[in-house]
Amino acid sequence: MSGEDKTLNPFEIAKRQIDIVAEYMDLEPDILELLKHPKRVLEVAIPVRMDTGRIKVFTGYRVQHNEARGPFKGGIRYHPQVDLDEVKALSIWMSMKTAVVDIPYGGAKGGIICNPKEMSKNELEHLTRRFTSEISMIIGPYRDVPAPDVNTNSQTMAWIMDTFSMIEGYAVPEVVTGKPIEIGGSLGRNEATSRGAVICVREAAKVIDFDLSGATVAITGYGNVGYNAAWLIEELGSKVVAVSDSRGAIYIPDGLDAKEVKQHKQQTGSVKDYPGAKNIEQSKVYELEVDILIPAALENEITAENADKVKAKIISEGANGPTTPKADEILFKKGVFLVPDILANAGGVTVSYYEWLQNLTREYWLEEEVNTKLEKRIVKAFNDVHEISKENKVHMRTAAYILAVGRIAAAHRFRGLYP
Ligand code: NAD
Repeated sequence: MSGEDKTLNPFEIAKRQIDIVAEYMDLEPDILELLKHPKRVLEVAIPVRMDTGRIKVFTGYRVQHNEARGPFKGGIRYHPQVDLDEVKALSIWMSMKTAVVDIPYGGAKGGIICNPKEMSKNELEHLTRRFTSEISMIIGPYRDVPAPDVNTNSQTMAWIMDTFSMIEGYAVPEVVTGKPIEIGGSLGRNEATSRGAVICVREAAKVIDFDLSGATVAITGYGNVGYNAAWLIEELGSKVVAVSDSRGAIYIPDGLDAKEVKQHKQQTGSVKDYPGAKNIEQSKVYELEVDILIPAALENEITAENADKVKAKIISEGANGPTTPKADEILFKKGVFLVPDILANAGGVTVSYYEWLQNLTREYWLEEEVNTKLEKRIVKAFNDVHEISKENKVHMRTAAYILAVGRIAAAHRFRGLYP
């Protein structure tokens, strides 16, 4: 492994990304320092009575990074590899993301070290409810509003909403977003992250004057973000030729059918062995001769190790933190147009914001209304970031950080330091 990528610690990477923008901005060192420290870290023990009758104690975190621009906001991840530095990094990226799309939130993230694939629905419900109760003193509609992330979904959000509501004594749908429609979820939320990522592909294609009809696409990760990105990009006339998940990857040069692959994954547990496709190694997906790459799995997918082998013209980061700073430089020099996570996957938190607004006003919007507002906000953010990137001759990630850090710093200047 080469130099900078030796330690792929996401928290170190997130701090380095903040440092990089300081070179381009007239930023007070005090504010820069402040942004590298999450405001609050809560670690909780979560005892759960498992189906065997025995108690197992899980560890969970909620990290609240910054609230200068509004309540903390960010997802909750269930994964065996969750660790505190990862959650801290994800909380920083959330502050940046809400600032890039200019919605009145700060950033937070949560996680529980667990393997949900080995747990029953009953165990997951108890885990979620006890975790909610343990963090209930720091979350709330105007404090901190969680959402889904890896291995959590609308059902998880429903349990959080119900538990918090039981504690308060009345229904509080606005404590969490990404809920089922029946209890206050927003139309369009489920695919919003992917819709934003695909809008970014479309805008990037305009910038580099590239025709998306017939373009080839590879997607890593086939969960909420990856699957929805697949069918949405098919609607633009592009064909998805490769996808991967935690168990394998497939390549099918003529293009796959996104919905059929999802059914296959539901039936067999993986995308691999999809009829007509060749099984390939997951790592090969990054190196395929494709026009567009959408990483939608986890952090550190594209590193100094494989960046040079990427053939795609456009990368739109559905996942958080999939590319390391060293890989960013390699891709930029190669002329790859990369739309960074804090812009490319901001569609999710944008529609979460719309869900929260609908919950607070108890007035619900049509799906078209949600999608039109999302489209406008992502296109504006894309153009804002692209302008900064041209002005400063920097890649889109640094440009997005310049925009985000500028907005958060401005809020800090006005609010001042308490006491
Ligand atoms: P998910 O749990 O629905 O799906 C994750 C997918 O990644 C699964 O298909 C899993 O099998 C796959 N995966 C795991 N390890 C892999 C590996 N090593 N190689 C290939 N695939 C692998 O999660 P999601 O909600 O789709 O989130 C995916 C990414 O998008 C994460 O980085 C998340 O933080 C980010 N994100 C999600 C949202 C959202 O609204 N859900 C919003 C913004 C960003």
